[in-house]
Amino acid sequence: MKNKFWIFITIALFVSACQQADYFEDLDPETGSFVEDDPNSNDTDNDHSSNDHDHGNDGEAVLTTYRINGDNIDKIKDHSIAPKYQIFQQDYAKHLAMWELVTRLLPYEFRGRLVEFEVFHGENELLGYVAPINDGDLSRWKFALAIDAANNLEQIDFKDFFTYVVIHEYGHVLTLNEGEIKTDYSNCNTFETQEGCPTTNSFIYQNFQIGWADIYEEFQQLNEGELHGFYEKYRERFSSDYAATNPGEDVAEVFAFFITTEEAPRGNTIADQKIKAMYNRPYLVDLRNKIRQDPTVRALKAGSWLQNPLRKQFKIGKHQHLGT
Ligand SMILES: [Zn+2]
Repeated sequence: MKNKFWIFITIALFVSACQQADYFEDLDPETGSFVEDDPNSNDTDNDHSSNDHDHGNDGEAVLTTYRINGDNIDKIKDHSIAPKYQIFQQDYAKHLAMWELVTRLLPYEFRGRLVEFEVFHGENELLGYVAPINDGDLSRWKFALAIDAANNLEQIDFKDFFTYVVIHEYGHVLTLNEGEIKTDYSNCNTFETQEGCPTTNSFIYQNFQIGWADIYEEFQQLNEGELHGFYEKYRERFSSDYAATNPGEDVAEVFAFFITTEEAPRGNTIADQKIKAMYNRPYLVDLRNKIRQDPTVRALKAGSWLQNPLRKQFKIGKHQHLGT
């Protein structure tokens, strides 16, 4: 099983290799971060003109924003959209099914920081994003998912790419929240992210110490075109190609593997060490156990979302969240 798992990864990485250039197109060479292009953060996209639509730079369209109220969602607004997206905006049953999958997947007590749920059309490129509701406040988050990536919503299925997307995006909220990152950069003795300074006990800094500290200076000097070479050079450090994007994406990928893999890695590569380190965190182990408590979930093949055809169809690198 273990070997089979890694074969899947190898195949998936090979298949996705040709997409690397696209993955890294939006990378800010100075920060190593993806350039923020939250569709709602662009003031030119507001409602002042009837000709303006709520879309991002790459064509994805924000459809509907909901306020999260426990296990329920209440619509805040339908966004201004191009006519071709109306069928997706009006499919409220699908919106609700997407949210219900989130509630089945993520235990209630771990969803306290999720304040808004947003449905968008990702134009077969963007799968999901998270972003703080307000700048400078990492305690309240928007959680957004692409309706065109959502299929097979009937059950939690680790073979389904959408399940992986939910876990990966939640991994950002888990590792970038106010308990993990201090927005004050003064006296930062870890490393600086776009969100702020990770605490010494943070998940992202733990991950950084295992696999980034000794190569971070080299990483920071890369230009866009050199990032794929960086991944190839250090690939035994990373669970996926996308993980090499920056420390924020890496810890989200490590979290996704930690959750979706049946057991801890038996190897001792740096990539293995990162995942194994999460088993030493009782909070994460508790979350993992709760996500996987359903027997049908436990029986699913680990990390098999990597073989999902959607991985070829979508670029997973286009997340819209601050700093990663
Ligand atoms: Zn991400």
